[in-house]
Amino acid sequence: MQIEALKSSFLDLTNDPVAIARLAPGETTAHLIYVNAAFTDAFGYAPEDVSGDTLNRLHAGDDWFWRSFEDGVPPSGRDRRQGGTCRLVRADGTSVDTDFSYFLVDADKDEHEQGERYFCATYRPRSGVADAERAYARLVAALNAYPDPIVVYDRDLKMIFCNDGYAASMSDKPEELVAGMHLEEVLRLAVRDGRYPDAIGREDAWIQRILTPEFLESSFEDVELDGDVHHRLLRSRSTFGDHVIVRLNSTELVRQKRQAEAAQARLIAALNAYPAPFVIYDSDDCLVVCNDAYRASMSEHRENLKVGMHRTDVARVAIRAGKIANAVGREEEWMSDQHQDAEMEKPVQDLELPGDVHHRLLRSRVENGDLVILRIDTTELVRQRRAFESAQDRLISAIHAYPDPFAIYDADLKLVVWNPAYEEAMSGESGKLTAGTSLKDILYTVALSGRIPAAIGCEEEWAERYYSSPHLTAPGVEDLELADDQYHRVVRSRTEAGEFVILRLNITEVVRQRRALEEKSVQLEKANRDITYMALHDDLTGLGNRRYLAQKFDQLVQKRRESGGEIAALHIDLDRFKNINDTMGHAAGDEVLLEISRRIRTHVDPEDVVARIGGDEFVVLLSVAGDSDRPETLARDLLSDLSRPLFFEGKECRFGATVGLARTPLAEVEQLLTTSDLALYKAKRRGRGQLGIFDRADLEDAQRTKALADDVLRGIEAVEFEPYFQPQMDAATGEVVALEALARWRHPEYGILAPGAFLSIATDLNVAGDIDRLIFEQAIAACQTAFGSDARPPSLSFNVSEGRINHHDFDAIQRQVQAYAGQVSFELLETIFLEEQDDASLCRLDRLRELGISIEVDDFGSGRASVVALQRINPDRLKIDRRLVALVDKGSGGLRLLRSLIEIGHALEIGVTAEGVETRDQADILAGLGCDRLQGYHFARPMAFADLVAFLRKSDDARSEQVFQPDRRLPPMF
Ligand code: C2E
Ligand code: CA
Ligand code: CA
Repeated sequence: MQIEALKSSFLDLTNDPVAIARLAPGETTAHLIYVNAAFTDAFGYAPEDVSGDTLNRLHAGDDWFWRSFEDGVPPSGRDRRQGGTCRLVRADGTSVDTDFSYFLVDADKDEHEQGERYFCATYRPRSGVADAERAYARLVAALNAYPDPIVVYDRDLKMIFCNDGYAASMSDKPEELVAGMHLEEVLRLAVRDGRYPDAIGREDAWIQRILTPEFLESSFEDVELDGDVHHRLLRSRSTFGDHVIVRLNSTELVRQKRQAEAAQARLIAALNAYPAPFVIYDSDDCLVVCNDAYRASMSEHRENLKVGMHRTDVARVAIRAGKIANAVGREEEWMSDQHQDAEMEKPVQDLELPGDVHHRLLRSRVENGDLVILRIDTTELVRQRRAFESAQDRLISAIHAYPDPFAIYDADLKLVVWNPAYEEAMSGESGKLTAGTSLKDILYTVALSGRIPAAIGCEEEWAERYYSSPHLTAPGVEDLELADDQYHRVVRSRTEAGEFVILRLNITEVVRQRRALEEKSVQLEKANRDITYMALHDDLTGLGNRRYLAQKFDQLVQKRRESGGEIAALHIDLDRFKNINDTMGHAAGDEVLLEISRRIRTHVDPEDVVARIGGDEFVVLLSVAGDSDRPETLARDLLSDLSRPLFFEGKECRFGATVGLARTPLAEVEQLLTTSDLALYKAKRRGRGQLGIFDRADLEDAQRTKALADDVLRGIEAVEFEPYFQPQMDAATGEVVALEALARWRHPEYGILAPGAFLSIATDLNVAGDIDRLIFEQAIAACQTAFGSDARPPSLSFNVSEGRINHHDFDAIQRQVQAYAGQVSFELLETIFLEEQDDASLCRLDRLRELGISIEVDDFGSGRASVVALQRINPDRLKIDRRLVALVDKGSGGLRLLRSLIEIGHALEIGVTAEGVETRDQADILAGLGCDRLQGYHFARPMAFADLVAFLRKSDDARSEQVFQPDRRLPPMF
């Protein structure tokens, strides 16, 4: 009741927030029952919000209050007020410090004898002054924690507040600085402690300058302190007129600024080194930085461009300097065009400057709004591009002018570039192809045009197949046969860009030429074969010739070396062939040769080699096993077959053959052909129509011959050859009128050898001439010494081998001839004159005569020199062959022959010598027949020079005793 009365009567009248709670007997926590309106205003709780809640709701977290209750509930009574400060939680959750006081009231006991009590409390939020103090303290703490100096002076320059930083910055004893100090005093402390190096020595003036209003009103000041330390003073006036000074340690900032400036300087230097113009305009289009190249590109005078200049002004400078070609004469128009914003924002702009100079402007906006412009000299690029474009134009016109089809397809095989020839080739008309047409379609078109014979009737399949063939896109060459005997060569290549270039060459002409060439070369080959054949074969018989034989022989030798076996050679010589030729004519001779070759062919195997190596000489080569007797059998068969006569024009031609056979390994392989020749001669010696087989004896012979040949050569070197001399007597007087020099070999082992032992070998070795020379020189020298001074030195005759007169050593001969006082004669064998005398050899004889040499025909009568030939040769003397002389006393036949031979000499009005005179009778008869000179054993044998000299001396003596008297009584007719 009392509580209700309290509520209604006056609780709501007080401005203090009041809360009432009931404390049940025995409980230590009171339950709220009411809060007044002031309470609601202050803390946000309405009475119904808190009614029933414990006091904990208001005192959350503040256990101070409850601890005091735990010690025992204080006694009741209004005079027993308790209180303190506590933190109260507002309805919105915030808390507030309050001063609170309470007291406990006992309830009336008449109704409820329970002894419950009421708890009445007022809560007053703590005063604003206290808050301000606290805030101030906090501020001071914060300002002291701030590292840079902060100070506040009042309008009278008395210090109100400074932080620790300020105190430390002004004095070595920071505690000297106290509130209420005048600024001047503070400055004096600072100057005293060396804080302001500037002020030293002029303290007052310095301080007075600071104290001037202008100085104090300036908003900031930078101060450089010792050790590159920098401070910035920031000054401001508060609303109360206080001076607030904050000193910032700006050392780091200053250094950063300095670094930035250095970096910028470097950047500008770098930009100046950069050859292309470069500029940065800020967001207001004012020049920030540019390099020298930019300045130079805009004006001749670099100072005309200044930092801060507006871009339009820069442009004007450039126009005035004539730097912008297309602005000349229309500056303003250009300016307005150019400096429209859109134009200026173009990232790339190309400029043409006077003198075909080109620049490209690259513009970019930086985040801070700056415009960076880079100007690149693109003159070279522009020129290159221009050159490239004109080259391309030229190329395209060249491609168009190119007579053969040309096309480029892109990587997807779509047509890109082509020339009219290509169009014509592919479609048959012009204007049909368009760029982008696919190769497949074009192939189909070609197929339809009937130009590809292979595609006729199956155009689509052909195009399909061709298009999908792998070589279509592979670089390479393909030859196409088109209709009408036309040929195209398709050359495909691929560019780096993956395009296909197709060049079609009309190679029809080339193909035709090649075809013609091929035909020609076939002909040539045939001609070559014919020539080779002719070179290797005998015209008449078609058999191989000597060269063919040599070739085949080499092949057989090679084959033998590689795979063994032996080679046999048959040397066939026809008998009586010359006779047939002479008596029956060449036609008969030819027929015989043809028949012979046919017969030989029938006997040999196809792989055998048959060659005709001379007029009537043939060789057959066989490749045989070592023990085969085929060569011998073949030789015998040939002998008998080749002796069968042949009828030519009804007349019988009789002939035969002689065969020489040699075979490896008995004969040395290299010598096989000479060896078979040797065997042939062996057979001939035995009588014709025989087979001669090369055997061991021949081999020994051959070896002997070889040894002898070596010996002859050595003998020539060693001058073992010397002349013997056989005198020739005047038939009338018996006087020695001439000497015949005869070669002798003074062999170190065998003694004196006559020509029969060495001459034929020397002739074979082709050194007979050398022997002649040795004899000639020695004889001349000896005879000149012995007879040079005689009244009539004897004539000297030399036997001359055929080789000698063909030699050109006329000069040497001449010297020798002139070295001898007597006559020199050359005896030439009659057989030499049997050969046809050509003009050259006659000429040589004339040369000899000019040298004063007389020519004698040796062994006259043994051969068949015709009188006509003799007349042409016109010799000085004939020497009757001694075999005929031997017949002189053997009957009338020989005599008659001799007489007629001697008469030839007389008819030619030349001398006649008889040689080989062995008896007195012979001498007499020959002298009687008219021989004017006689030579023979009857008078003297050939003898060494010393013997000759002795002989001559003796014969001189004897002649004076009339030892020899030719019988002049014999009648010439006998
Ligand atoms: P030739 O010119 O007919 O020489 C005459 C040969 O008859 C000589 O043989 C000689 O000794 C021989 N003779 C001389 N008187 C008689 C005789 O009464 N009865 C017989 N039975 N024989 C007689 P030689 O010296 O053996 O010479 C043989 C041949 O060698 C020569 O025949 C000549 O053709 C050739 N000859 C000799 N010396 C040379 C030379 O220096 N050079 C050349 N190329 N050939 C020579
Ligand atoms: Ca002679
Ligand atoms: Ca003779």
